[in-house]
Amino acid sequence: MQLDSRARAELWQRLLEAIESYTVQVDEGRVTPELDPEKIRALLKPFDFARPRTPLEALDFAVEGLRNYQTHTPHPRYYGLFNPAPTTMGIAADALVAAFNPQVGAWGHSPLAVEMEQHLVRAFGERFGYAAAETDGTFTTGGSEANHTALLTALVWKFPAFAEKGVRGLPAQPVFYGSGEYHHSFLKAARLSGLGTEAVREIPVDAELKMEVEALRARIVRDRKQGFAPFMVVGTAGTTNAGVVEPLAEIAEVAAEEQMWFHTDAAWGGAAALAAELRGLLAGIERADSITFDAHKWLSVPMGAGLYLTRHRDILERTFSIVAGYALREAEGLEVVDFYKRSMQWSRRFIGLKVFLSLVVAGWEGYAAAVRQMVEMGERLRQELGESGWRVINRTRLPLACFTDAKHPEGGSPGYLQAVVQEVIGSGAAWISTTRLADGRTALRACITNYRTGPEDIAALVAALNGARERIRASAGAVTFPPKN
Ligand SMILES: *Cc1c(COP(=O)(O)O)cnc(C)c1O
Repeated sequence: MQLDSRARAELWQRLLEAIESYTVQVDEGRVTPELDPEKIRALLKPFDFARPRTPLEALDFAVEGLRNYQTHTPHPRYYGLFNPAPTTMGIAADALVAAFNPQVGAWGHSPLAVEMEQHLVRAFGERFGYAAAETDGTFTTGGSEANHTALLTALVWKFPAFAEKGVRGLPAQPVFYGSGEYHHSFLKAARLSGLGTEAVREIPVDAELKMEVEALRARIVRDRKQGFAPFMVVGTAGTTNAGVVEPLAEIAEVAAEEQMWFHTDAAWGGAAALAAELRGLLAGIERADSITFDAHKWLSVPMGAGLYLTRHRDILERTFSIVAGYALREAEGLEVVDFYKRSMQWSRRFIGLKVFLSLVVAGWEGYAAAVRQMVEMGERLRQELGESGWRVINRTRLPLACFTDAKHPEGGSPGYLQAVVQEVIGSGAAWISTTRLADGRTALRACITNYRTGPEDIAALVAALNGARERIRASAGAVTFPPKN
């Protein structure tokens, strides 16, 4: 299990070389891999684990495999679903965490780690406008766990009997609200909490793809009349589809009037709070009872880092605390917290170190500059798309463009747009996708998720799109697209 010191020295050296050369060379290669499951299975077939291989053979196999068979999310021409190019400090932190392997579930085992994460929770709470004395929270595996945590804490807050009696112990069926552009992790959370997906009310969006607040009010009235028990409303700050920030202050108002929990899902867009000139976009977030913010999106730390923040200091323990006979006792009597009592996780990785080390080195100013750079590249992308006859159909200041082809008669049809995506991805020049918006339209979607994406990368994406359009035009007649839906 543990290699001898010479083998370790060789392995570390090879590992560091592999990380460094990937970091330097990723820009030069294709963004997308060949998608051939048979080929990949054939590569794995010889591994029957009967004959041990040397550590270097094993490492080289993994490095080669990842280089060849991965959509390179750290590539500056990956315009995807918020997966970042990791910070160097984040990579170092994850390696350290693996080696020290602290158990962060209990304060007594990991006092530094627990205090560091609490320190970060307060620091981010403050950025979102929470009062320091009120702020609490927990690091999560990602935004989905944070949203699930929000749902559970909202249930416990609204229905104190929920923790013991469950949903069936409640006097009425609880229901909650999000717009048609909310994140679908809430559907999973509804299943996992025992509510079922019928408890989720999808409120229509307006022409800018924001929740229609009047429709929200009307639906709550109707639900109350029918005997349902509304308990939470979700406002999204930076929708996954279109990067739109919903009217958080207005939604907060409705939540307050209706005595509902207000959750803001700012998994991606929350980073706008780090740049002074963008902070205003999130106005109202400070009124949220809880906030989801993903460090593994715009803060660019390696994956596995979400954050749930709340201004209800007791709610996590009321939701998750249990008594276990084998729990550690060495910290008893100290004014400290044990994470196993305040989240879904038990044995628990040190998630916060990659955020801490990245933030210590970049500083708030470094992050503000990175956010600014990406927002500028987003503006540039919208402009260059327009110049080439692509029509941007979402309105946001965040760097995410949803667009169709104004130069093609079927430029908004799902079939045509998917053909464009296949051309772009197939060329290896960039990664983009199509998406279906809540109003039924399909669009191409390109999001800047990399702090190294520069003007030449934007130009390359637009060139790849224009090339795709030309190749499709050239083969016209051979291809027909399904009708618009
Ligand atoms: C990405 C995202 C999530 C889910 O977060 P994961 O980290 O992928 O689990 C939730 N909400 C929004 C708005 C997102 O963009």
